[in-house]
Amino acid sequence: MSTTTTELEGLLMQRSLTDASLLAAAEAAADFRILPDATVIKVGGQSMIDRGRAAVYPLVDEIVAARQHHKLLIGTGAGTRARHLYSIAAGLGLPAGVLSQLGASVADQNAAMLGNLLAKHGISTVGGAGLSAVPLFLAEVRAVIFSGMPPYNLWMRPPAEGVIPPYRTDAGCFLLAEQFGCKAMIYVKDENGLYTDNPKTAKNPTFIPQISVDEMKAKGLHDSILEFPVLDLLKSARHVRQVQVINGLVPGNLTRALAGEHVGTLITAS
Ligand code: ADP
Ligand code: MG
Repeated sequence: MSTTTTELEGLLMQRSLTDASLLAAAEAAADFRILPDATVIKVGGQSMIDRGRAAVYPLVDEIVAARQHHKLLIGTGAGTRARHLYSIAAGLGLPAGVLSQLGASVADQNAAMLGNLLAKHGISTVGGAGLSAVPLFLAEVRAVIFSGMPPYNLWMRPPAEGVIPPYRTDAGCFLLAEQFGCKAMIYVKDENGLYTDNPKTAKNPTFIPQISVDEMKAKGLHDSILEFPVLDLLKSARHVRQVQVINGLVPGNLTRALAGEHVGTLITAS
């Protein structure tokens, strides 16, 4: 039973905006998905784009083929250039909000490069993936590229410690998928998925095909393959209740994941 506008308005006018009965009444309103047929894919910065042609060209070919069957919102990571900027800016004593703007400029660079590679297929890069022309692009060419950093900029919530922006491109892409009520969220990175330890440095880590947010935290893996705030965003999500992390260096993985196959690690809200 959903709440009427009049009932909600009655509560909203009288109570604090975080009042428990008001929250419950708002919760009872039926959910609405804005772009339910679209899938958000995040193309990793350090893990994919920084590898250049060898990693990016095959993925671009896969994207071009996949959009015949899927509507794609393609977000970009930042990567090594952002880490370089963060180290300089942090050393200069600049705050998280400034680092957030610097990181966004790198995700923008990656979106611009992907946009140029996909231009001849009619796929455009949008500045800011807030609605504007996104639905039109999806309807006409079934894909659009956006810069993955969430636009908090100077208003980035500072981390408890240090100045590295906690909400970066993993979070930006997830939030877009969740707000638009998209069908799926796929992270395209350079490992098969989540392991018991970082496969780049650990000796014999074990692959984990599926795991919940709580299990991931219990295993101390909350700060590993995804930015840690994404886990809490996922846990409280209404629409996107799982994400898949796949190895984009393996041809065919993205196509299979888009078809709903389990090819990497599924991280579930519950
Ligand atoms: P992006 O390019 O999207 O920013 P990252 O480089 O931030 O991706 O994240 C992917 C990396 O996370 C992998 O290359 C891997 O080295 C690292 N990583 C750390 N811990 C783990 C883990 N337990 N399992 C898998 N990968 C991990
Ligand atoms: Mg990263």
